[in-house]
Amino acid sequence: MDLGDRYLNVFFAYRGAAIDDARLTSGKQLEDSLTRALGVTLRAVSARAVQRVERDPDRGRAAAARLKELGAKRILIKAAEQGYITQLACKMRECFCPEELGGACHFEPVTAGLSDWMPTLEHFPKPKREGGKEAVDNAILAHRLCNRIDYSITVGRSYASDLKRIRKAREDAIRRNNEGPDALTRI
Ligand SMILES: [Zn+2]
Repeated sequence: MDLGDRYLNVFFAYRGAAIDDARLTSGKQLEDSLTRALGVTLRAVSARAVQRVERDPDRGRAAAARLKELGAKRILIKAAEQGYITQLACKMRECFCPEELGGACHFEPVTAGLSDWMPTLEHFPKPKREGGKEAVDNAILAHRLCNRIDYSITVGRSYASDLKRIRKAREDAIRRNNEGPDALTRI
């Protein structure tokens, strides 16, 4: 296991614990301390992980069909058709979608209401603010909310209200899961 894999394993293990304890705000501190300890940034590790993934047009076509159903942006569908996006999953360095809701693979359709969990485009590996273009090889799939939080972290903007939305989404999902699909007919 190389340094990057170790970094990601530790990061995601701790992040899971932080979510359970509702200590999500520690994500950035965790990233900083890991970067100091291992001498590599999360973004660099993620970029390497993305580059390791081979293009896979077969899996991409299936992802493209799902993205089309959801009403995703044309560039995302195109990136999937060409095998750059091979999975309907949020690939931000940190996905905040609660496991109880379906986690990184849970996506909601693009509507006027702009769901937190609708598919959006993240310019990656070259960010938009660094001149990254909207292109099939600079496109990763991201939840709208995860994308926004990542941006907030990058520019040092508060995202406490977004964390509150995530906690509420998690609580709602737990409630729905407990009620089950027969809940209405049992009343
Ligand atoms: Zn996400």
